[in-house]
Amino acid sequence: MYAEIVASGTELLMGETQDTDSSYLGARLPALGLELRQITLVGDDMERYVEVLERSWKRNPFTFTTGGLGPTVDDVTREAIAQVFGEQVYVDGQQRQVLIDLFKSRSTEMPVRNIKQAWLIPSARAIPNRMGTAPGWWAEKEGRVIVAMPGPPRELYEMWEGQVVPQIKERVKGSVVLTRTIKTIGLGEALVDEMATEVLGIQNPYVGTYAKPDGIYLRVIARGSTEGEAQALLAPVDEKLRRIFDKSVWGIDDETVEERVGTLLHQQGLTLATMESCTGGQLADLITNVAGSSRYYKGGIISYTNELKIASGVPAHLIETHGAVSEPVAAAMAQAARMRLNADLGVGITGVAGPEALEGKPPGTVFIGVADAKAAKASAYRFPANNRGLVKRRAVTSALLALRGHLTSAV
Ligand code: ATP
Repeated sequence: MYAEIVASGTELLMGETQDTDSSYLGARLPALGLELRQITLVGDDMERYVEVLERSWKRNPFTFTTGGLGPTVDDVTREAIAQVFGEQVYVDGQQRQVLIDLFKSRSTEMPVRNIKQAWLIPSARAIPNRMGTAPGWWAEKEGRVIVAMPGPPRELYEMWEGQVVPQIKERVKGSVVLTRTIKTIGLGEALVDEMATEVLGIQNPYVGTYAKPDGIYLRVIARGSTEGEAQALLAPVDEKLRRIFDKSVWGIDDETVEERVGTLLHQQGLTLATMESCTGGQLADLITNVAGSSRYYKGGIISYTNELKIASGVPAHLIETHGAVSEPVAAAMAQAARMRLNADLGVGITGVAGPEALEGKPPGTVFIGVADAKAAKASAYRFPANNRGLVKRRAVTSALLALRGHLTSAV
């Protein structure tokens, strides 16, 4: 079943606001059995809005709009839907009371212009907004639906999860969609594509590949009229892909690399300590985002200066000879963290986040060390250098993947 998204707001066109609402919705449609055909951004311009909306409504069972439900004159979503359906807006008594009560609960009078948020048309019903004043609309005519939701992300997320998804599920009954994400590491996108050729051309289940900072993902989407039918289509392809990619698979579905590492550490009864330089504690942050991480994570040192690296146990002569951003220093940081915090394993990260070069090493250069009781080893990485935040994020992901590699090869 096809769907389109129309995101409205002049600030989206000007690039002042990123259209995260559409990405949020787009990521959630396949699981509902809806295939997204197009996302359109439109300014607060009634004529264009009507044009775009009408085209989408005429050719899709579902159109989702975001924004333009506020009380001001440039919030034109309701007017646009009314015009597309050829209907007149009216003030709905029940919605009016909901608004009056809402403002009363905030100890203020309802401004006159907010009455617009109590508008309905004969073909629309209001969708309650638990996070704000603007109710959404479920507008339906000739068997095709326009769902209008507010622009502010937290209002949209709540409305989508709490109110819209159950109604869509009810409507697309008889069509069950199951998905599986298989996360691989160590293989390029082209190679993954080649290895999966056998299943890539199939329509149901559909298999797609996606490059992510933590490797290449394979996504399997199966549709059936019952859960059993969808499962019967999904299972053999899922099994086949796991067999083909075997040891390169590091996670399934929503599992994150920090969760995977946590599970492996816990299963093997090992503890971990970290020493970070260029990532400034981001590795420790990710590790401790996992519930129960205190069972295996001893702690970390943010040794941003050479002084602190040396005071934490990194031999000064290594820094003098090779520089602070070097393979030997990354390995020594991993070993020092392990020793200093009395852990089984240590991880060290040192690098140049940019934008300037350091010690003659270009931005994006990062060394990651992993140490156990027997040895400390480090590897060199080069990340795209034009974004400091990205270099840090990639470095942290790579450190977790290096740790995962160590934990799985040791088994
Ligand atoms: P309000 O009742 O707050 O006016 P609204 O439904 O009319 O809500 P807009 O006025 O279009 O929504 O947008 C309000 C704010 O919501 C914007 O300033 C922006 O911060 C955020 N927003 C709007 N559209 C999007 C979008 N597509 N993606 C992310 N954020 C958005």
